[in-house]
Order: sequence, then C-alpha cells, then structure tokens
Amino acid sequence: MLLVTIFGPGGERKMSDCIFCKIVDKEIPAKVVYEDDTVLAFNDIQPQAPVHVLVIPKKHISDLTALAEADLSKVTHIFKVIKEIAKDKGIDEEGYRIVNNCREKGGQTVGHLHFHLLGGRQMHWPPG
Ligand code: AMP
Ligand code: ZN
Repeated sequence: MLLVTIFGPGGERKMSDCIFCKIVDKEIPAKVVYEDDTVLAFNDIQPQAPVHVLVIPKKHISDLTALAEADLSKVTHIFKVIKEIAKDKGIDEEGYRIVNNCREKGGQTVGHLHFHLLGGRQMHWPPG
C-alpha cells in the first residue's frame, strides 16, 4: 500500500489513507461536536451508547504507543475537551467512560489516536 505524507494547513502531518485524517480534512462527513486548532470531536458512526463521541488530535498520531513526548500536551488538551463535551451533553455529573484502544490486542481498528467518550447509560465491567 502506498502511504503519502502530506501537510495540513497548520503544518500538521496527515496520512493520505487514514479515515480520521479525511474527517479532519472534511473529505469524509462526520457530525462534529467540537473543533479547535489541534483537536476534533465527532459522533461515532456506530454508537455504543446514547453519547458516543470520538476525540482525536488533528495531527496524525497512530496510537498511544507512538505518541511522542513532544505531543503529550495534545492528550492533556483532549482530556480537557472531553470534560467540556461531557458537560455539554449533560453526563458529567452522572458519569461516563473514556476508552482508548491501543494497537492489536487493545482492539484498535482505526490507526489514528482517538479517545471514545461513552455515556448516557450504565457502563459495566469487565469490558470484554
Ligand atoms: P477503535 O476500535 O477504538 O479503533 O474505534 C474506532 C471507532 O471508529 C469505532 O467505534 C467506529 O465505529 C468508528 N468509526 C469508524 N469509521 C468512522 C467514521 N467514518 N465516522 C465516525 N466514526 C467512525
Ligand atoms: Zn490520521
């Protein structure tokens, strides 16, 4: 497979065959619930809960293992955004779940770092 690295408007690295990079570039539609210079949040296409939002860095980072020290602040910012979305959705007080599936054994299916915000129903443990 041919992978081409291109640069977005902010100089952020994109991967040409990555569906989440395509959502960042608005080449694939998504129901965006939050956006700023570095982060995008949109509804999951196959929601597993009444609230199921994916929060991603706009920069293509494949997964948490691949996250460079220099990009750690993006994750801090993502968690701040998650708190704000949870408040907007009215689930901050009752509670919610944040999930990051990392690589094969973690069950990751899209190779662009993302955090699932799940809420609006009772969550269970173990997750399976
Ligand atoms: P993961 O299994 O943690 O890699 O999660 C990937 C998530 O991306 C799944 O919950 C999918 O339903 C979701 N997903 C895949 N394609 C799209 C898309 N085009 N728009 C929104 N969500 C998507
Ligand atoms: Zn990507």
